[in-house]
Amino acid sequence: MKKAILLASLLSAFSSYAQDEVAIKSQVADAINELRDFISIPNDALNPDDIDRNINWLKRKFGERGFNTAVLETENLPLFFAALPMNTQKPTVLIYMHLDGQSVDPTKWNQPDPYEVVLKAPEGDGFKTISWDELNDDINYDWRLFGRSTSDDKSPIVMLLNTIDLLKNEGTEMPFNVKVILDSEEEKSSKPLPKAVKEYRDLLEADFLMIVDGPVHASEKPTVVYGCRGITTLSLTTYGPIQPQHSGHYGNYAPNPGFQLAQLLATMKDTNGKVLIPGYYDGINIDEATLNILKSVPDSDEAIAEKLQFKTAEKVGSFYQEALQYPSLNIRGLESAWVGAKARTIVPESATAELDLRLVVESDGTRLKKLVKDHISKQGYKVLDHEPSKEERMQFDKIVYVKEGSVTDAFRTSMDNPYGVFLTKTMKETFGEDVIQIRTMGGTVPIAPFINELKIPAFIVPAVNPDNNQHSPNENVKIGQLAYGIKMFYGVLSTPME
Ligand SMILES: [Zn+2]
Repeated sequence: MKKAILLASLLSAFSSYAQDEVAIKSQVADAINELRDFISIPNDALNPDDIDRNINWLKRKFGERGFNTAVLETENLPLFFAALPMNTQKPTVLIYMHLDGQSVDPTKWNQPDPYEVVLKAPEGDGFKTISWDELNDDINYDWRLFGRSTSDDKSPIVMLLNTIDLLKNEGTEMPFNVKVILDSEEEKSSKPLPKAVKEYRDLLEADFLMIVDGPVHASEKPTVVYGCRGITTLSLTTYGPIQPQHSGHYGNYAPNPGFQLAQLLATMKDTNGKVLIPGYYDGINIDEATLNILKSVPDSDEAIAEKLQFKTAEKVGSFYQEALQYPSLNIRGLESAWVGAKARTIVPESATAELDLRLVVESDGTRLKKLVKDHISKQGYKVLDHEPSKEERMQFDKIVYVKEGSVTDAFRTSMDNPYGVFLTKTMKETFGEDVIQIRTMGGTVPIAPFINELKIPAFIVPAVNPDNNQHSPNENVKIGQLAYGIKMFYGVLSTPME
């Protein structure tokens, strides 16, 4: 008897699972059609007319699903906002995505028009185009849709729309209020966003923010990202004679800016890549629990070294994820006179190093820039904020002209935030596997100032495949990722928080 009940319940669990898969697949079919339609509207952020046409499409699509929509004017291109009717008893999720895309050069694409989606199946190391008719027989989750913004970031918008359909068809009541903000200038650094938060604060008010943009971890497993690094830049120039001089006449005599710059840069880091400037890593403490989460990310340091072809990594952290928890000090370019075939026998007039500093929440960019400048002064250099005049050249032996870049802050949400716990738990249940938790992503997202201004817990929940050629020709999304995104949104929007 017991056995029979067990079998029956197993069977029913299996059949509801199977039904879910069937329901998801048919929703994916709808999503593919909707995505083709959406991609066919060019979305180059450099062209305001493109953005208007996309916003009109969005108004209609969100409107059909019962959202109230609004176009939020900014100092530049407008933002698109949508919200389902509010219930004050429920917590509110704000979902950020973007509708603009990178410009395209059609000659670099393996298809006639990057805005006309092409269906392809994997073949050997590449892909072959297949007819849309093949979708009528079967939707293969390994097939891909090629077109601009198929991954970045139109498919997440379509995933959300189709999840709403699925929830409505099933009569599932959502335990959250849902607000959506769609950026139209993400590819142009989202400049109007922080100001827009101030202007539309009431409208954007929410309990937590989900950013659905970018790819899942390289292992293709479910991923939640809690933060990302910020960035600022410094440009350092040292000076020799006012004009390049003959190295026979003046070598050994005219001061050499290349050596000055090399000596200066060498004081900034030890041979293991650790910054020697006092205070640079202040405030960063990685406790045991955090270290364990960092270690649980399935990266292989050996594989990274093999792929990038270097023997030993720098030792700021003891492994890749740990290294990303610290601010970097990177020489991104060096220039003095000429090299290679153009090299000349001269004492150059100047040498320049371009630095970028990736920031973490503990390391304010303005503070780090000041630490570097103070360090330069301590090495006996006169720090100037302009090109030296003749008077200054005659007054100081060693001069550095420091040009400062603006600061984009880092953001990071605490890993024990209840909404983050909810997201990872729900996704773990949805996909039946552990969720990869990234504490700090190495790169910088332009919406960090928006997040910091909103002052609510924020999580990046990526939904597309890592090999999507984002920003490049032949951008694509794996059809299986459409299913992934719909399941992810479905799990989150149908599961009550405990
Ligand atoms: Zn994006």
